[in-house]
Amino acid sequence: MKKTLLSIATMAVIATGCQQKKELTSGINVDNFDTTARLQDDFYQYACGGWMKNNPLDAEHSRYGAFDVLAENALKNINGIIDSVSNNQNAAGSLADKIATLYNIGMDSAKLQADGAAPLMPYLQEISTVKTLGDAWNELLKMHRRGNHVLFGIFGEADKDDAKMCIAWAYQSGLGLGDRDYYLLDEGNNKKIREGYIDLMTKEFALAGYDKLSGISADKLAKMVMAFETRLAKSQNTQLENRNPQATFNRYTVEEAATFAPNIDWRGYFETMGILDGMKSFNIAQPKYFTEVNNVLKDTDVETLKAYFAWHEISSAASYLSDDFVNANFDFYGRLLSGREVNRPRWKRVTSTVEGAMGEALGQLYVERYFPAEAKSRMETLVQNLITALGQRIDMATWMTDATKANAHKKLNTIYIKIGYPNKWRDYSGLEIKNDSYYANVVRSNEFDMAYSFSKINKPVDKDEWLMTPQTVNAYYNPTTNEICFPAAILQPPFFNMQADEAANYGAIGVVIGHELTHGFDDQGRQYDENGNLNDWWSEEDAKNFDNNKQLLIDAFNNCIALDDPELGLIHGDGEKTQGENIADNGGLHVSYLAMQNAMQKGQVNKEQMDGFTPEQRFFLAYAAVWASNIRPAAALQLTQMDVHSLGRNRVNVALPQVTEFIDAFGIKEGDGMWLAPEKRALLW
Ligand SMILES: [Zn+2]
Repeated sequence: MKKTLLSIATMAVIATGCQQKKELTSGINVDNFDTTARLQDDFYQYACGGWMKNNPLDAEHSRYGAFDVLAENALKNINGIIDSVSNNQNAAGSLADKIATLYNIGMDSAKLQADGAAPLMPYLQEISTVKTLGDAWNELLKMHRRGNHVLFGIFGEADKDDAKMCIAWAYQSGLGLGDRDYYLLDEGNNKKIREGYIDLMTKEFALAGYDKLSGISADKLAKMVMAFETRLAKSQNTQLENRNPQATFNRYTVEEAATFAPNIDWRGYFETMGILDGMKSFNIAQPKYFTEVNNVLKDTDVETLKAYFAWHEISSAASYLSDDFVNANFDFYGRLLSGREVNRPRWKRVTSTVEGAMGEALGQLYVERYFPAEAKSRMETLVQNLITALGQRIDMATWMTDATKANAHKKLNTIYIKIGYPNKWRDYSGLEIKNDSYYANVVRSNEFDMAYSFSKINKPVDKDEWLMTPQTVNAYYNPTTNEICFPAAILQPPFFNMQADEAANYGAIGVVIGHELTHGFDDQGRQYDENGNLNDWWSEEDAKNFDNNKQLLIDAFNNCIALDDPELGLIHGDGEKTQGENIADNGGLHVSYLAMQNAMQKGQVNKEQMDGFTPEQRFFLAYAAVWASNIRPAAALQLTQMDVHSLGRNRVNVALPQVTEFIDAFGIKEGDGMWLAPEKRALLW
């Protein structure tokens, strides 16, 4: 699975800068500083405090950062694109017609209110006719075809022994709260969240009329689902367990799976989805969980399974129905779980839906309008400079033997690079968009996506496929294709500034590039070889040194404070869960700093002070600026529980003291808040 820079995929737009040659700026915005803070004690506050003050949270956001500014701009621009294609007389069935039709029906509030639960009812009525566990299984097949992954999910992903091939993966799924910990642990806000979840189910079961259809009261239905999902949660892997690439790869033939979990009709499933032909084997990622699914399919009361399915039908439809559903959903998922105060306006929600349905079609228009060709060529040079620097860092590593270094170089030199936008675009001609209802279109779009996903299984992996749209403000590394990808939308300030001196660019987008490159060599990435196969290319001694070094980072992030709130309590970071991302930040900082030094030697960086800062200082200030953000306690808690990335503040204040070049650049001394003793600084890449 791909490793990203950020938890939440967002969108943005490139400001088309003027083309005249002009003096380069420092790339540092002093308005973003809080000069009342002492940078040696709290670098984040110093570098980002002004930004935080100037960009207070509004009711709509529970987190608002430099990334989100880009996302908001992007959403406006994507909306503008939708608007512009909607203004013409579109041929029926054309892409423009599909975009316009889906947008308009989503915006038709009067129709949404008038329709109420009607677009959902055929699915609930069908569930209500289920009599046996066999009927329930057939219902599950239909739901999976619509992308509603009750009990588990099947999707295409690389064969870890032969990464050129895409095979089927069976993966744990089907929890309305998303993660097992919400059901099983009492820490943080979890008890309130469970109560809120039961309230939400009770309310929406009644709104949808499933209580009447089933003859069971809404609050009883809610409790049945809660008990059932808690049972599933108990046998699901933790997020930490799912970070283990070896343990989550368990090859089965269809025959072996039938013996392992006989109550799951594997053959029937694969046949129905059209992926049995040519299937040699597939992966069961969490065998322990599928043992429980096997039990569930034998010993669960049919009414319970029906209530569970009905709930997931309601839940996946709620955002696309009348406002009573939308608001109930927001009260729980938006307000209680993430700490947002008001829902996003309708035009933003619908723009996101159109984006989700036809992302690459909008992406193609986006790139034509907003992505300058010179940004791509300058980025290509930067990536090459970062690859050179990582090669040098590998040679410099004192903890690694020559044999392992040679293997690391082999992997580094075959990394596949994607910048801006894909070479070929996805075909949406098979997607049907009609004037029946907003939700019916969302269902057809989900079906279209699932069919697309299934169509890749048992075939060679398409290396030219992009796992993010160009309008996404994010980046990724994919270990099984050994590729790094930088969508067009991240190539703008504060990441990448065409008008700025390179020191700031190395500190921002350079570290992002180094971060993604390092993912190929983090605790997970290092287990894959240059072909993307799960293959141990390390000497035992080097692996041990790696683990010892990374432990310093794990300790630092375990000890850091994620949240200290009178209501939610004192919550620490999770150094184990976030280790891959923290290793990537650490590596990214070291590698990009060296790349900047190389560039300085070539005269490509202004060695003088700019805005009062040396190039070394500008590098770290630009790095911090990327993470400027305000966040509500509930969102900080949610991200700490669910996200493999550390919070922005800690990606600065915990990550930077690990880097000796940072300590030196600002003359940080023992006793300063940002000081970390040299023996506690992790040195990996
Ligand atoms: Zn990452």
